[in-house]
Parts: sequence; structure tokens; C-alpha cells
Amino acid sequence: SLTIGIVGLPNVGKSTLFNALTKNDVLAANYPFATIEPNVGVVGLPDDRLPKLGALYDSQKIVPAPVSFVDIAGLVRGASKGQGRGNAFLANIRDASAICQVVRAFSDPNVVHVDGKVSPADDIETINTELILADLQTIEKALPRLEKEAKLRKDRAAMVTAAKAAAELLDTGVTLYGGAAAAGIEVDQLRELHLLTTKPFLYVFNVDEEELNNAAFLDELRALVAPAEAVFMDAKVESELIDLPEDEARELLESIGQQEPGLNQLIRVGFRTLGLQTYLTAGPKESRAWTIPVGATAPEAAGVIHSDFQRGFIKAEIVSFDDLMTAGTMSAAKAAGKVRIEGKDYTMQDGDVVDFRFNV
Ligand code: GDP
Repeated sequence: SLTIGIVGLPNVGKSTLFNALTKNDVLAANYPFATIEPNVGVVGLPDDRLPKLGALYDSQKIVPAPVSFVDIAGLVRGASKGQGRGNAFLANIRDASAICQVVRAFSDPNVVHVDGKVSPADDIETINTELILADLQTIEKALPRLEKEAKLRKDRAAMVTAAKAAAELLDTGVTLYGGAAAAGIEVDQLRELHLLTTKPFLYVFNVDEEELNNAAFLDELRALVAPAEAVFMDAKVESELIDLPEDEARELLESIGQQEPGLNQLIRVGFRTLGLQTYLTAGPKESRAWTIPVGATAPEAAGVIHSDFQRGFIKAEIVSFDDLMTAGTMSAAKAAGKVRIEGKDYTMQDGDVVDFRFNV
């Protein structure tokens, strides 16, 4: 599943952030599974194109692409050695496709820091270390079995090699996501071990609202995690924004010099980190964004709507969102030669507005 796992030390603002995310429940009606598990939240990918498309087609509803977040509790210092609830967090985090670490960078003396001082660099290292130790344990546990199997099955040899190289890299304090490519480690060989540090990472820095416009401060934090992506927000402000009517929310954002809620940025960056993009469909019933991996072909994209669409795929009528808006209507776009007929080898582009033709 395409879920982003939220981790972080205690008291950094995870629950505040998660609650704000899940209160943003515009999707509840469209995605009823959104509320099945208390630690899972499904939110809509903010997309300015959808309301415009909806207006053009007079659509009854607008359905954004869903992005799932799961609150992963219990990843604390020493978790790999049994502290807190020990490795209980592993089951949850294994299912996540990307890991989002919330890092405290706000100074409030009333909120206790578990390590006694606010230090983003130390906190990031603490969490990384736990994830690395968990992976090392997984590999150490699996290696004797893998080596035994390698004696009987040739194809296991590459896995043993990759596992040993991975353990060596992890021992130096580097994650597999950060260092495997450079070290020539074939992480694909390790898929069945479900290692945590192979997942893409992104970071949310929970900062004081006064710092949101302090470029030097934000650059310092960004440098701690580059090339991973960093999002900055004041989780407390975000949780207030969510309860306000739209115009008051906009005023509050303006008063702190922000264009949009930090949550929106987080959802977008998370979506990108997962390697996803969207194409659009439009009609009187709904205007909707559909999630596909970057590089998906037209039949694969059709299959996201229904597997029959992929099986019976004939062709797709496609216009880019920008061309459609420039033309003003679909018939004008056709008259201008902007609507293309694409076959089964076409690679989908973000923002394609699509009408699939298929046999049933
Ligand atoms: P968690 O343990 O990581 O889930 O942290 P919580 O979300 O429960 O937050 C811990 C405490 O910090 C709570 O009292 C929050 O109100 C407070 N808090 C969270 N985010 C912020 C923030 O951005 N600024 C300030 N000043 N306090 C915050």
C-alpha cells in the first residue's frame, strides 16, 4: 500500500500533526476506509486543477487523489534494545512505503524534550540509529538461514552477498536509502527482508511560527537532511487552521507570511517521495485525480480505474490540463488539434486529462 509512516521522538508534535491531517476529512465520503484504523489517516492530495476542471464540466463532485498516513507509535531511543514497547513499531512501519520523521525545532520551554534539549541533528540521528539497528537485527537473524539456503539454491547467493554488504554499510551509520546505490548494493535482492532503511525518507521540521520566514534557520535544518526533502510547519498553527472557516484560515496564514498550510506541502512532498503522479478524468458526475507511478503506460493508468479497462484497452483520448484550459472547452481543444489519440505504449504525463476507450 502507498502509505507514509510518521515517526519521531516523543513530544515533537506527531499527534498534533497527525490529528490536523486526519481532521482534514474532505475525503471521508469518497474513501470510507479512511476511518477504519485509528492510526491511519487518508487525506486528499491538494490539486488546484480539480476545481477548474470541475467548473468546466459542471461536475457534481470533485475527488482528489488519496494519500495515506499512518502514525507509528513507539519508535523511541533504545527501541531496538527493548525500550518502550520494543520492536512493536516494526509491524506498522514495514507496511509504510516512505518514512516521514517529525523533528522538533520549536523552543517552547513548557514542552519537555525527552533528551533535555532541543537538537534537531541529535534527534534525527537517534531515530536513524534505531531504524539502522532494527535492520541490522533483521539481517543478522536472517543470514544463517539465507546462507544455508544458498548451499541448495544458486539464486540465494546474490541475496547473501547483498545482505552482508548491507550490514557493513549499516554498521557505518548510513541508511540503505542513503548509501546503497553508491556502495553498489542490490537492494532489490533484499526485498523479502522488508528492511526499513531502504524506504525513502522525508522530514517535517516542527518550528515556531516566527521562524517560518527565517530563511537562514530553515536552510540550516534543510542541510541536515539533504538530499531528502524537508517541509517546515508549526504543527500547533496547523491544528488551529484546520478548525477555522476558510477566510479566517487564510487571514491567519497571511499573518504569519505563508501562502498555504504546511500540511498541503507535506501531502504533496510525500506523494512525490512515493514516486507518484496523477492523471485526471472529468465529466458531469465527477472530476477526479487518479494515482499512478511515474512512468506508467496508458493501459496501466486505465487499470487504476478498473482492471477491465486495462484488459480491454483500445486507446486513450488525451489532452494536457494546460492545453484544455487554454482552449477553454474540450471541443475547442479538439479543433485546435490539442487532443491526441494515444495507444498502449504511451507513457502517461502528470496532468493528462484522459478519456479511455476499451472493449468490455
Ligand atoms: P508527540 O508525542 O510527538 O505526538 O507530540 P504531541 O503532538 O503530543 O505534542 C507534544 C506537546 O507539544 C503538546 O503539548 C503540544 O501541544 C506541543 N506542541 C506540538 N507542536 C507544537 C508546536 O509547533 N509549538 C509548540 N509551542 N508546541 C507544540
